[in-house]
Amino acid sequence: MSAQRTQAPVIVAGAGPTGLTLATELRRGGIEVLLLEQRSHRGQNGSRAAGMQPRTIEMLDQRGVVDRFLAAGPPAHLGNFAGIVLDYSTLPTRFPYTLNIMQAETEQVLEGIATELGVAVQWSTTVTGFRQDATGVDVIVDTPDGSATLRSSYLVACDGGRSTIRKLAGVGFPGTDATMACLTGEVELDDPPERPLFLQRRERGSITAIQFRPGWHRVVTCEPNRAAAGPHDPVTLEELRASLLRVAGTDFGMHSPRWLSHFNDAARQAERYRIGRVLLAGDAGHIHLPAGGQGMNMGMQDAFNLGWKLAAVVRGEATDALLDTYHDERHAADADTLNLVRAQAALFGLSDPITELYNVFSHLIGLSEVNTYLSARLSGLDICYPGSGDHPLLGRRVPDVAINTSSGTTTIYQLLHRARPVLLSFSDDAVVAEATAWAGRVTPVSATTAAGPWTLPDATTIPAPTALLIRPDGYVAWISDGAPDLAGLRETLTTWCEAADRRSDEERIIR
Ligand SMILES: Cc1cc2nc3c(=O)[nH]c(=O)nc-3n(C[C@H](O)[C@H](O)[C@H](O)COP(=O)(O)OP(=O)(O)OC[C@H]3O[C@@H](n4cnc5c(N)ncnc54)[C@H](O)[C@@H]3O)c2cc1C
Repeated sequence: MSAQRTQAPVIVAGAGPTGLTLATELRRGGIEVLLLEQRSHRGQNGSRAAGMQPRTIEMLDQRGVVDRFLAAGPPAHLGNFAGIVLDYSTLPTRFPYTLNIMQAETEQVLEGIATELGVAVQWSTTVTGFRQDATGVDVIVDTPDGSATLRSSYLVACDGGRSTIRKLAGVGFPGTDATMACLTGEVELDDPPERPLFLQRRERGSITAIQFRPGWHRVVTCEPNRAAAGPHDPVTLEELRASLLRVAGTDFGMHSPRWLSHFNDAARQAERYRIGRVLLAGDAGHIHLPAGGQGMNMGMQDAFNLGWKLAAVVRGEATDALLDTYHDERHAADADTLNLVRAQAALFGLSDPITELYNVFSHLIGLSEVNTYLSARLSGLDICYPGSGDHPLLGRRVPDVAINTSSGTTTIYQLLHRARPVLLSFSDDAVVAEATAWAGRVTPVSATTAAGPWTLPDATTIPAPTALLIRPDGYVAWISDGAPDLAGLRETLTTWCEAADRRSDEERIIR
């Protein structure tokens, strides 16, 4: 084994959507990253996450890169609860729809951005072990040239649901076991169902057929178990066809598979997202049935939450206690989504009472209040990070309101392109003056706005605030409706943006 020392402060294991997003966020924060991936090249690992949710799209807009994703796939109306279509069109966002991009395409666009920011994926590099101590982490990797030990200050496991790092760290992964087995294929159908999103429950299981692009469908069957194959065997076209014939009585004229796979409804979440200098993100921290299109979105949002915090800690502008807030916030948000997915998985059950429940739900979702409630949750727009305070915007994503500044008209999300906190005041120079002590770390902006009310994802409205502190991930950390509480602002700035210590730059570099 060769001992190769590197000075990269952060090693990210896994170049799926979570690892790629995290790498770009760290680079925006000025941090060097080593991005390790066990595969030998990107390849076409199936469509998988074909529905990007509104909050994820917004976060890409906050970084000024959303157009690349909008160009890669059309808006679609795949927002659904257990396959029952939701109407996202009334959501108060510039993106009231899901985006129909295949996961491989999303990864390709993310990789392009990462490359521009100076991170190249190191392919054929598998993390096989790690050791952490008081100053950093030794990361053991297998490469085509043999094994090596790399050194970093932090290691982030974005290595998927079977995460080697999570297992080596001994982190518990409690949850619920699988109750059904689903087969999926991306295929061409000579005799497709009439509707582009087709879901039916039959006596022996359920069938979903989603038209992604003209002539190209994802077909899914879910049955109690895999009748003719072991749980880990690869899926063949004939196995999928037999399942379709059993469940639906037709194979829809299926042929020409591009991708075949299987999954189940096991739902698990890592007990901790932080183990000292090792952090878990994406599927490494949570797995579940891909119902309602959540997994990739949760992973990318984990990355947006962690990226700016880890960058601030590595730059020496925050203590590593800031990393605990990553666990507190994302573990709670992901647990909430997991519960919503479990509720959907229950509706896939095949007993008569559940069929009746499903029928009741299909009716309820037609009621606008129910549609608003579920759309706000599944879109990711109504996430509220815990311990934030009483104001309805605290801990929630800021709406992308148009504002006027001395340099002209802009929007709040454009102010976030640099991935730095923004202190935005609509009236009071004293608020903006507070940013002086945090110069270089907080962007102060004086603006006027076309006033309120501002509409929230649950369709309630609030008056436009007079000032607010927005974190780099677009969540509101402090807000004022009238005379500003400047002491409260200073305290909040200290929590999220304070320098941890006054060590020299030289000392920080080797941190
Ligand atoms: C059929 C299906 C449909 C889905 N539909 C949706 C959807 O519509 N919307 C949605 O949001 N989600 C959906 N998902 C879920 C989504 O695909 C995952 O949540 C997403 O891929 C998680 O991204 P990730 O980067 O965390 O993990 P992964 O995509 O699993 O990436 C992990 C990466 O780490 C690499 N790796 C693993 N071990 C190591 C190691 N030891 N060293 C180095 N590299 C390693 C892997 O090769 C891989 O590239 C779907 C999933 C399936 C199966």
